[in-house]
Amino acid sequence: MDNIFDWSYDELKEWFKDSGEGSFRAKQVLDYLYKGAGSFDEMKNLNSTSREKLKEAFVIYVPEVIDKRVSKDGTVKMLLALQDGNIIETVVMKYVYGYSVCVSSQVGCAMGCSFCASTKGGMVRNLLPGEILGQVMAASKEAGERMSHVVLMGSGEPLDNFGNVLRFLELVNMKEGLCLSHRNITLSTCGLVDRIRELADMKLQITLAISLHAVTDEKRREIMPIARRWSIREILDSVRYYMDKTGRRVSFEYSLVNGVNDSLEDAYALASLLKGMKTHVNLIPVNVIREMLFRPSQNKAVESFRNALESRGIEATVRREMGGDIDAACGQLRRSYLDGM
Ligand code: SF4
Repeated sequence: MDNIFDWSYDELKEWFKDSGEGSFRAKQVLDYLYKGAGSFDEMKNLNSTSREKLKEAFVIYVPEVIDKRVSKDGTVKMLLALQDGNIIETVVMKYVYGYSVCVSSQVGCAMGCSFCASTKGGMVRNLLPGEILGQVMAASKEAGERMSHVVLMGSGEPLDNFGNVLRFLELVNMKEGLCLSHRNITLSTCGLVDRIRELADMKLQITLAISLHAVTDEKRREIMPIARRWSIREILDSVRYYMDKTGRRVSFEYSLVNGVNDSLEDAYALASLLKGMKTHVNLIPVNVIREMLFRPSQNKAVESFRNALESRGIEATVRREMGGDIDAACGQLRRSYLDGM
């Protein structure tokens, strides 16, 4: 049976029409659904025939929370079980402006970045649009409030699951559903240049974040296998194209690893790469991942790096990983769970 979260308003309208019910029922169903109804029986505005027909054709599927950790800073990391038994993780963060949820786009990841726990067991499968949306629903249920922002920055490379992620972006923005503005959505990619260009052509108003993490192709290849396919120059060209087409700023993620990419020379090289771009750099002292040799940069090195960027006119902020006390960095909690099985 289909997960109803995979369906759009227009498709549901057609379905109701084809099944001999008024297409206005679609709006009623979505009202209940996005207010958190867990079963069709709760949809009291619908007659029993409609409810039975829905039950025969659809399931309401929100991934089940099987474990969660709550950080001292209020971040909640949830382990969610999918219908086929796969486990994903979703993080809910509270900010002054509201709640933000970091969703996964794949079970595992094929990209192989050496500092990331999500990729340790490889890629298992792509998530369906309704499963990505289901994480937003699960997060709202956990927080008891609507999510005002979504970041596609959890496990998986969103642009490696392009079709399903695009469909998710359409569904989450749906007026009859969560109606979340694309401007409140950030998609983070390790730099799939062809997809960045395709995305640019669609002129969506989402924020693009590029995981750069190194300033030379040689160094980037050591920590990110994707760098064997596309050079930093090709990535930056695609980013300029994205900016031109969408009018949006693009941000860069730069994880600082002690002694690997956190020198002042690295900072100045990064500044000259980004020179002339209206951009923002998020500096992230990398979290310690068991069995991996990377260590976070010293506070002093982080500050010097930031100051060096700013002295060259590049806006930069240091983003401490929220929930560092609860394995909240990408893929860590899922990895701990799977290792303990
Ligand atoms: S950092 Fe992102 S792209 Fe790289 S392995 Fe982890 S999830 Fe995949």
